[in-house]
Amino acid sequence: MSDLSSPNWFTEQCDHTGTAISLRIKHKIVEKQSRFQKIEIYETTDFGYLMVIDGCTMLSTRDNFLYHEMMTHPALFTHEQPKNVVVIGGGDCGILNQVLKHDSVESVHQVDIDALVTEMAQHYFPQLCESNQDPRAKLEFTDGIQFMQLAKPASFDVIIVDSTDPIGPGEGLFNHAFYRNCLDALRPGGILVQQSQSPILHQALIKEMRDAMRLAGFDDLQSFLFPQPIYPSGMWSCTLARKAEPFGSFRQTDANLLSDKLEYYNPAIHLAGMQLPNFLKRALAL
Ligand code: SAM
Repeated sequence: MSDLSSPNWFTEQCDHTGTAISLRIKHKIVEKQSRFQKIEIYETTDFGYLMVIDGCTMLSTRDNFLYHEMMTHPALFTHEQPKNVVVIGGGDCGILNQVLKHDSVESVHQVDIDALVTEMAQHYFPQLCESNQDPRAKLEFTDGIQFMQLAKPASFDVIIVDSTDPIGPGEGLFNHAFYRNCLDALRPGGILVQQSQSPILHQALIKEMRDAMRLAGFDDLQSFLFPQPIYPSGMWSCTLARKAEPFGSFRQTDANLLSDKLEYYNPAIHLAGMQLPNFLKRALAL
């Protein structure tokens, strides 16, 4: 049994949840401090490359598809015809890459505060960046909070918030004022997607987020659950909020066609992902 405190292991320690997640590494490849955060890349023995921001695991080569597909396809297949999409955060380009698999999409603004994240992704996660030259992709490096404040009313169909945790530069992406700006920027029927942390460890945060989305004026909410081995607890969630329309059916035939090109998402996973277990329904007062 090897010692987890040895340099052969990277450990993300979360004191507030009393948990830690470790990946065995070959070595640290690079560490850089940007204006906003510390970014590290490790080569692991079993999960490929690993990106860490301010000590928190962001993505690995091996399992990022789970998160990126579930943050993207449930929303895009629920919308009747998503044309204009924004990704706030998401500088690793994994969500951008998934969004561009949808033929109806005419433009995707990816708005990350930190160009260094994208620079690192282009180098160590090139498979996520293979659509960056697509003429529909618009990479912008600015604060997502400000971007949504300045967005034209009713100009987007889907907004996906792929941020770091609600501390540091990501903090203002989890509150009522931000959700209100997103609501204004969406067309009727538009959908906001926010990564909503672990259903096991962060129930209060998910409830607070859902309450803030309702208060901002969204008509209907739907949280989705999915596995994510490298995040604390291994079980993760995203929460969708819809403007002026309820959730309900989704474009199953189109979802089935795209499934052939995906690793995780398919229509059955869509339906299963939206079933919430009893402990979470109780915690969310549903
Ligand atoms: N999937 C990861 C997770 O849940 O841990 C997060 C992915 S990472 C690409 C999140 C990105 O959010 C980082 O690149 C960071 O620069 C960006 N970010 C944080 N605050 C931001 C803000 N206010 N505006 C735009 N991007 C922001």
